[in-house]
Amino acid sequence: MGRLFAVEIVYRGIFQKTLAKNISRGIVLAAHAEGKPGISFGRYGDSPERNGIPAKNFAIVGTDDVTLEEGMAKYEPTEVDISIAVDDTLCKGVESWAWYGLQPINRLLKPGGALIVTSREQPDALIAMCHRKEYPYRLAIVKGTPSFSGLWVYKDDHTDVRILGAVAKLLPDLVGLEAVQKVILAEWRDPLKATSAARAYERTTTTTVRPDQGNPEKPYQFELPKWWEMREGIAIPCIRPGQPMQDMDNHKTGGFRPERNPTFKKFTTRTMRPVVNFDTCIKCTLCWLQCPDSCFDVTPDGLYDANMEACCGCGVCEAVCPVTDCVTMVNEVAFHDNASQWEMWKKDKDAYQTWLNGKIEHRPERSHGFRYRGQYEEQTPEMLEIAREG
Ligand code: SF4
Ligand code: SF4
Repeated sequence: MGRLFAVEIVYRGIFQKTLAKNISRGIVLAAHAEGKPGISFGRYGDSPERNGIPAKNFAIVGTDDVTLEEGMAKYEPTEVDISIAVDDTLCKGVESWAWYGLQPINRLLKPGGALIVTSREQPDALIAMCHRKEYPYRLAIVKGTPSFSGLWVYKDDHTDVRILGAVAKLLPDLVGLEAVQKVILAEWRDPLKATSAARAYERTTTTTVRPDQGNPEKPYQFELPKWWEMREGIAIPCIRPGQPMQDMDNHKTGGFRPERNPTFKKFTTRTMRPVVNFDTCIKCTLCWLQCPDSCFDVTPDGLYDANMEACCGCGVCEAVCPVTDCVTMVNEVAFHDNASQWEMWKKDKDAYQTWLNGKIEHRPERSHGFRYRGQYEEQTPEMLEIAREG
């Protein structure tokens, strides 16, 4: 039996769908150019047609047909040689629609495997975000901001080919740089992209991450009910005659009471989060009304506190808030927990203001994909400059 290679690309639904496909397809085509068969596919259980939802693409390559067929009998790899996170906020862990609970970004990595992250952060900052792993692995950073585009448009900022160059450097048995460049010229017909891949190849270095490094938290998980514990068919609970409507779980009465979902939290969909200036809030209720995920809790003093376990970072609250700079979307990388902002403000208003200003001022702005005509023409030159100069 020959050798089987597996690479996963973890990306954000819609914003990076084409990017992830380009990378996995590029790996398979480059391997094919070297005589190795492979297959590129998206994970069945994902729903990448939602803004920001974490989703996966895989590139599986064998040194021969039989090895590939044998590997694909498992359908989805249980371990990978390389994990690619094309947005650094995914390093905090991912909760996709394909599973329940939070999964570390490095979960499938083999011992000594490589995690490639697109980021402008330093290795220490990324390592602090990743959950600890029981054995060492390598971290490589492809410098740059996350490449977000839309469903029907693609931001051609060379992120795809730069990642291919990094893959060639980290796992030359899978694909060599020559094959990568050959495929880039055949597929994209752009010599500049082939040059960007070569530059990424030359610049890619790794940091070894030890088992005692990283986020020590245990990712939240819960027990799914067993099939024999489920009720038969679809049971719709009714109101008992003469009795008020009861909540099935807590047996409380008195109508609908909004609650947070204890098992599906959604916050890993977020690449930015809102921060609220409670001192300037006029309590107009618009953020509370318009938030598509009903994230805002009404506080005892009539303010609105976005629950960070439920917020998916869509930015609607910032858009609807009528007060200038009262709600500001900030890069998710700047935060290390989901603590209540209102509680922080209530405890020490001056300290909160300092915290707030620090978050707003010291983090680069991100953009959720395609928002206006001409946007990519404005954003792409910066990424091409990074591709050129490092
Ligand atoms: S960004 Fe604002 S509107 Fe969007 S989910 Fe979060 S709190 Fe709600
Ligand atoms: S929309 Fe702005 S001003 Fe209105 S309640 Fe929300 S945070 Fe306050």
